[in-house]
This record gives sequence, structure tokens and C-alpha cells, in this order.
Amino acid sequence: MSDIAFLGLGHMGGPMAANLVKAGHRVIGFDPVPAALDTARANGIEIADDANDAAAQADIVITMLPSGRHVIAAYQGEEGAPGLLASAKPNTLFLDCSTIAVDEARQVHDFAVAAGHRAADAPVSGGVVGAENGTLAFMVGASDDDFATAEPILGVMGARIVHCGGSGLGQAAKVCNNMILGISQIAVAEAFVLGERLGLSHQALFDVASNASGQCWALTTNCPVPGPVPTSPANRDYQPGFAGALMSKDLGLAESAIDLTGVDAQLGRHAREIYKTFAAGDGAGQDFSGIINTIRAQSAAAND
Ligand code: NAD
Repeated sequence: MSDIAFLGLGHMGGPMAANLVKAGHRVIGFDPVPAALDTARANGIEIADDANDAAAQADIVITMLPSGRHVIAAYQGEEGAPGLLASAKPNTLFLDCSTIAVDEARQVHDFAVAAGHRAADAPVSGGVVGAENGTLAFMVGASDDDFATAEPILGVMGARIVHCGGSGLGQAAKVCNNMILGISQIAVAEAFVLGERLGLSHQALFDVASNASGQCWALTTNCPVPGPVPTSPANRDYQPGFAGALMSKDLGLAESAIDLTGVDAQLGRHAREIYKTFAAGDGAGQDFSGIINTIRAQSAAAND
């Protein structure tokens, strides 16, 4: 069993850390939000005085933070104060499970190695339900040795652990997958609105497309209209699910990767703009399939 520092005990990190405790690991946690600490304490996590104190006691340091900016600041310290890299024991394995940009992931990996540690990027998909049930999918960018150390720990929190390659390639897999998802959810929503205008029932379109070449997760699991898939967020007034704000964030990371590589990803860029606008309004807290309501409203306005 390992001594694990867990930093960032929010929606995802809280239940992930709790699953590590259930599996018998010693988990020392920290989060600046007092309510997150109360829940963590109730789940058997030891609460450290601060993040550095947690890291100093651990063999493995897991971060589950909002963005790359937070991860870089936590690793390196801010305003002259030491960060996690300076506080941890030599050769600590740093596992960053946050969703951050590919180049940021490579940067923090290099900082960690330069400070005498090991590091891997291990972003997740599966959302809060996956975090609670220990069924997350992990996409890991790491050396073979670091992956071998990380895999059994990640296996406690997830059901599928994929070694995607070296440093940054876990984030690369995540950003590519979510770009497919963002584009395909818009495509499915546009098709339903077009079908409505043509007099086609939702069920008839679903019955055809879900058994034909239009079949995809955005249709068969996250169907953006109520009815055909009773468990989809459309049946509960678009409560997430996967919030529009998170899709907007992830497509922003996709756009950074597109800029970095110069790929002619026109639909990826367009999806980024569509979800940025969605998340700036009512869509931030709605499931991202709620984009259908924007498309429907804009279609009505265009026909006035
Ligand atoms: P969240 O905001 O609920 O949790 C992040 C936590 O980090 C907060 O409690 C915050 O107080 C804490 N924090 C910030 N700086 C810290 C520091 N220096 N030390 C310790 N704690 C610190 O966010 P979340 O929904 O748990 O998401 C976390 C990450 O997982 C994000 O990168 C997100 O993109 C990714 N993600 C989220 C989901 C989801 O469905 N929520 C799904 C996949 C991936």
C-alpha cells in the first residue's frame, strides 16, 4: 500500500481520493475549500496543513486541479513560496489527472524530472459518476517504468487504463477524443432540428440513424432530445452530464493543440466557437447536448 498525497478534492478528486482510501491506501489530502476538506475527512482522508505538507509525506502525488495554470503554480510554488516539487521526497511519482494543454503537460513533466522526480499525465473521462463508482477511463502519458508504477493506483479509481505513449500523450488522447465528441454532438443536434423542420419525428430519426452510419455516442447515449434514450440529459432539462463549461474548456485546449501543430481542423475550431458562446450564456451549467436549444432558437430567429 502507498502513501498518496491528493491535491484538489473537488467534484472529481473528492470521490477519487475516497476510492483510494477504500482500497487501503493512506491518503493525505489538501484543498483550499473548507467544505471539500470536511467531505474528505468524513471519507477517511487525512487532511494536511497545506499542499506541500501533504506532498512531503507521500510516495505518489496526485493532482486533480481546475487548469494547467493551477498545476504549474502548485508544482513550482508562487510568489517565492516553495511548491510541491521542492517539498516532495526525491523520486516521488507525480500523477496529474487534471485536464490541461498538451504543452503544459510536457512542461510540468520536465519541471518534475529536473527536480529529481518522476511524472505522468493521466487525464480522465467518465465524469463525476465514474469518479464515484471507480469506473473512470485514464489516458496516460508516461515512460514504461512510470506507467508500471501508476497503473495499479489508477486501477483503483478507473476501469480502463490506456498507456497512450510518452509525456503529454495522455492529454493528446483526451483532447482528440473530446474534439470528436464536441463536433459530433453539434452534428446530431443540427440533424434533429433539421428533421423537425422537415416534419420528421425524433423517434423516427433516432430509429434510422442509431442503426445506420450516423450512429455515435452523441446520438445513442447523449441523445439531445427527450424520449428516444430515457437516460440522456435531455430528459432531465439538460442537467449535466458533462457541462457546457467543461466542453468549452476542453475545446479551448483542442484549439491550443491545433495552433501548436498547424492542423487544418476547421470543424474543431468552429465547435470551439460554438461552445465558447454556449458556455458564456445559460449553457455553462447545462449538459453540452443543450446546444440543440441554441440551434433551434437561432433557426427560428433566422426564419422570422
Ligand atoms: P473542481 O473545481 O470541482 O475541483 C478542483 C479543486 O481543486 C477545487 O476544489 C479547488 O479548490 C482545488 N484546488 C485549486 N488549487 C489547488 C491547490 N493548489 N491545491 C489543492 N487544491 C486546489 O473541478 P473538477 O470538476 O473536480 O475537475 C477537476 C479536473 O478534472 C479539471 O481539470 C477538469 O477539466 C477535469 N475533468 C472534470 C470532469 C467532470 O465531469 N467534472 C470530467 C473529466 C475531467
